[in-house]
Amino acid sequence: MTRTVDTAPALIEGIQAGDRRSLARAITLAESTRADHRELADEVLGTLLEFTGKSTRLGISGPPGVGKSTFIEAFGLHVIDQGHRLAVLAVDPSSRRTGGSILGDKTRMADLSHRSEAFIRPSPGSGHLGGVARRTREAMLLCEAAGFDVVIIETIGVGQSEVAVADMVDLFTLLVSPAGGDELQGIKRGIMELADLVVVNKADGDLAAAAGRTRADYAGAVHLLRPKWQAWATEVMACSALTNSGITEVWDAVTRFVASVDASGELAEARAQQATAWLWSEISDSLIDRFRADPSVADLLHEAELAVASGRRTPTLAARQLLDRFTGS
Ligand code: GDP
Repeated sequence: MTRTVDTAPALIEGIQAGDRRSLARAITLAESTRADHRELADEVLGTLLEFTGKSTRLGISGPPGVGKSTFIEAFGLHVIDQGHRLAVLAVDPSSRRTGGSILGDKTRMADLSHRSEAFIRPSPGSGHLGGVARRTREAMLLCEAAGFDVVIIETIGVGQSEVAVADMVDLFTLLVSPAGGDELQGIKRGIMELADLVVVNKADGDLAAAAGRTRADYAGAVHLLRPKWQAWATEVMACSALTNSGITEVWDAVTRFVASVDASGELAEARAQQATAWLWSEISDSLIDRFRADPSVADLLHEAELAVASGRRTPTLAARQLLDRFTGS
């Protein structure tokens, strides 16, 4: 087999033809820290940008063990049955805890990963959240250009990654387990506020009754939150990823959501705001990278850190001195 040489035109053509290897390769380039890889990825993304944005972007979050991968498999197979093509990406900045990626692992979604209509991409692995979020956004755009019209971004429910994911998707789903009101109190209010859909999973067998009560508890709780959209009030539903019950209803809710916020103009507005926020996070990340790499700053930086740590200089003054040096003013 001949090894294809990476060129922007070849990758662009491959992605537009729906070639999975070209897509996977372009995502790898976008994830790379090598400057030449990033340049190539920028060129590919720049050309393909006009072919992006046509998917339904879904975020799915929930604590470990709630059934995210089981749910995504059941839900994903249903979505494919409706004639869609589905990409699943993962954001998992905590993966270093287990020494490897715990999300997006193909063995977790065995049936889905064998379908030609599905593309599952493991997490880019550990790294600081900003970097992981940037790479996931780019991967999402590349998947859209390759013709995937539903993109799921999965994140583990342990903290800030939910906010980052909510900032790049249209609809954010919080998956929860059947449990008493105690667990409800444990879910951070901030995460509840992000949710457009709360799905109580494991509504089957012995857990069915508890799932019903949990659903009612969450319905009461989301009612009290400030609404995120004018055209959509957060819905709470129950399903079983194991038996497939309620999965159709979750997808119906997604399509109703998209129809409502699209018609009200809020979807376009939200995407425009997300793109602007992304621009600013790119600017601040790139500025910090350049600042740290600047040789004229490097020798002063350590001294400034010591002076601030020992209380000899205020952080405000130290920062201003360093920035003056950096900008040459
Ligand atoms: P994740 O860590 O959130 O990805 O959770 P998994 O999908 O790996 O599921 C964790 C455990 O919950 C596994 O043993 C699943 O079989 C089980 N599970 C997932 N969905 C359901 C469900 O709908 N009902 C029941 N009873 N168990 C489920």
